[in-house]
Amino acid sequence: MFNKVLIANRGEIALRILRACKELDIPTVAVHSTADSEAMHVRLADQSVCIGPPASRDSYLNVHEIIAACEITGADAIHPGYGFLSENARFAEILEAHNITFIGPSAEHINTMGDKIAAKQTAERLGIPIVPGSDGAVKELDEAKRVAGDIGYPVIIKAASGGGGRGMRVVNSDAEMETALQTTRTEAGAAFGDDAVYIEKYLGKPRHIEIQVMGDGAGKGVHLGERDCSLQRRHQKVFEEANSPAISEEQRARIGKICADAIGDLGYSGAGTVEFLYENGEFYFIEMNTRLQVEHPVTEMITRIDLVNEQLRVASGNGMSFGQSDVAFQGHAIECRINAENARTFVPSPGKISYYHPPGGLGVRVDSGVFSGYSVPPYYDSLIGKLVVVGRTRTECLNRLRRALDEFVIDGIETTIPLFQDLVRNDDVLSGNYDIHWLENYLAANDA
Ligand code: ADP
Repeated sequence: MFNKVLIANRGEIALRILRACKELDIPTVAVHSTADSEAMHVRLADQSVCIGPPASRDSYLNVHEIIAACEITGADAIHPGYGFLSENARFAEILEAHNITFIGPSAEHINTMGDKIAAKQTAERLGIPIVPGSDGAVKELDEAKRVAGDIGYPVIIKAASGGGGRGMRVVNSDAEMETALQTTRTEAGAAFGDDAVYIEKYLGKPRHIEIQVMGDGAGKGVHLGERDCSLQRRHQKVFEEANSPAISEEQRARIGKICADAIGDLGYSGAGTVEFLYENGEFYFIEMNTRLQVEHPVTEMITRIDLVNEQLRVASGNGMSFGQSDVAFQGHAIECRINAENARTFVPSPGKISYYHPPGGLGVRVDSGVFSGYSVPPYYDSLIGKLVVVGRTRTECLNRLRRALDEFVIDGIETTIPLFQDLVRNDDVLSGNYDIHWLENYLAANDA
């Protein structure tokens, strides 16, 4: 195992990683910006190093300072969490050159999957079903129209280097294509430093279903079932559950095996997520994330496998503690992302939490770094915690979630808890009858 792990992240995920390290008796180093000196991950780590001012580019993205922090503290591995440097292949390479282990897949795999065009081509080669679309990048208007004509409108133009739900545009006809192609390319160039775009069929009523995978880097690949993340706002997930209310055990086993085999063939190392849209019984690959996901706890709750512990094992050369036959799904889990935002307008609401009381009881897990008196800084993502609930059945899980949300008190700032209190009382959510557009439609209807 590692001598010491540096956690190059903040907030709830830094705490999540720290907990896994503590259970393995691995000393931890927290890094933090000047805005986070009082944060819980800093308080609970064995050592901490201030790596810069509040702006992420000067602190949590500051590779030079992070490596210096490893050298000062003697950390021999870095866990990047999600966001920040987690999918930065160059960072993984630099760490290797410094003899520091990057807790994640190889730079090569990060690179391939970080380019959505290369990722789709790789997926197709590995036998994973993909969304019909252009064969690679599309530059010229004629070509764009030809592809759209072949697959049929509506289509979606997507940035090859896009992420976080940004860099996508739906096109309904030839007439809209010229402006849409131009705008998406310009925006992609400005936002991601890469103006390559591709086209795929726009699915009208899909669900977002993703498969959690894990590889040992030596040909073994396993899957840990799916998460249904169809409740989204602006292509960003807000509520996730496992198992999906929409798919059967046979479908799970079939798509899971395809992904596990692909991960094994690729020689992939560590945790990853293969994302699909699912419509009319078919799965369509959209992308692969080469890191731990925000919503990983729902999988942990129904498999009882600690994904961060396994990441640490694999990265340190100890291999996974389990194989496919050890993975069994028990019960149902749901996660609500609690953001410091107004629950209707989604305007961020940073500031001081005057009183904090998390829910508890059987089957309730709260991953959060906040506490009474903590000030949510305005500089970072507004996610301040995750409420994850498990029950023996989906109904028991929803009843427990409703109870837990009603117990949750966060005073002094606005949060998205009231939105979830409404959602767990909604008939469509209760019956699992929703697709990726459901939440946007619901919000629009309830604003009127
Ligand atoms: P990102 O990397 O920005 O998260 P994804 O490719 O994972 O981008 O897509 C994010 C979301 O955008 C999906 O969950 C889905 O809601 C929507 N989306 C992406 N591709 C399509 C498509 N072909 N048809 C319909 N919706 C799509």
